[in-house]
Amino acid sequence: MMPGMNELPKCLKCDSGSMLPLSDYGRDGASIHYKAWVCSNPECGFNIRIDNGEVTLGRTIGQSYK
Ligand SMILES: [Zn+2]
Repeated sequence: MMPGMNELPKCLKCDSGSMLPLSDYGRDGASIHYKAWVCSNPECGFNIRIDNGEVTLGRTIGQSYK
């Protein structure tokens, strides 16, 4: 059990959404917990990815500005 799971960190970009932890599965089927975090605000789309120990910030995915 991890403490504080109900207290997701606030998004640093829009300050209204929460950062949701995403898990993924590696090629060998091993689960990778919290590989990426994404803002719960669809209008924000801020996300953080963690690949091989390196953090990639804010690569927007499918976002369009109008
Ligand atoms: Zn946000």
